[in-house]
Amino acid sequence: MTKDRVLSGMQSSGKVHIGNLVGALQNWVKLQDKYDCYYFVADWHALTTGYENPAALHDSVNDLLINFLAAGLDPDKCTIFLQSRILEHAELHLLLSMITPLGWLERVPTYKEKQQELKDRDLANYGFLGYPLLQTADIIIYRAKYVPVGVDQVPHLEISREIARRFNNLYGEVFPEPDALLTEFPKVPGVDGRKMSKSYNNAIYLSDTPKEVESKIKTMTTDPARIKRTDVGDPELSPVFQLHKVFSSKEEQSEVAAGCKTAGIGCIDCKKILIRNVFRVLEPIWAKREELLSNPEQLHAIVEKGNDKARKVAQGTMVIARKAMGLY
Ligand code: SF4
Repeated sequence: MTKDRVLSGMQSSGKVHIGNLVGALQNWVKLQDKYDCYYFVADWHALTTGYENPAALHDSVNDLLINFLAAGLDPDKCTIFLQSRILEHAELHLLLSMITPLGWLERVPTYKEKQQELKDRDLANYGFLGYPLLQTADIIIYRAKYVPVGVDQVPHLEISREIARRFNNLYGEVFPEPDALLTEFPKVPGVDGRKMSKSYNNAIYLSDTPKEVESKIKTMTTDPARIKRTDVGDPELSPVFQLHKVFSSKEEQSEVAAGCKTAGIGCIDCKKILIRNVFRVLEPIWAKREELLSNPEQLHAIVEKGNDKARKVAQGTMVIARKAMGLY
């Protein structure tokens, strides 16, 4: 039986952190058993905001590919590829730009939000405005049925559905409208309690050494009311407990929560339990990273194979799309 196709990508704009791991990669690993999954590193997307720093882009692409595999993506079960190696994405992006009203792009909420967030960069470039078009091309060129997204990202997928619909209305049914594959993403705070983000410098990276991870957790923000060991705390106000919810068993979470509320456990011991549980998840990833870092040819071969497979599918779609638009 043919499996439904799933498409998802990750922008190469920095190192992979544990928020990316539990928020996306672990879910991708589960999906690869059930669907025909295409996962890519979105390096063109990274250029829409990071065009001034090509050296960082190169390092980030490598880090992402290594971590895709280290997190458990299996190239025998899914297709792993690099966006910029499949030139057909750019061609479809161009063709979609002919039919997409400018107002649709200007209305995308993240367009203005991100411009505010990244005030230090000049984002008055077409690539940034046209980001949703490239994203749409990424998805529909594989005629993917599903895109895994959290509830708050469903509106972002809507513009891709609208553009696919507009293409089909103008030229006939070529692209299926992609559906959201709703996924619950756990909340992963950074070590300072804010959202884990490269720009806040508060992230725990998969490329961190065990010592670095230990030290980051040991110095994590706790409930500010727990100043002395004898002070009681509220675990819900502690980012450490938010990480326990992701990495520790239900029993350990109950014990820690009860201990926090009664001052039965100190923050140092609470963090030790968390460190142990984070290590349990990261140790196999560290081992796989080592293996891949010492054998770059292996990584190269996997990605080239994925690129070839993705390119074939994309080329097949473009034959139909070009013809539909009179370009044959
Ligand atoms: S005991 Fe744990 S959950 Fe409670 S404040 Fe300390 S670190 Fe946070």
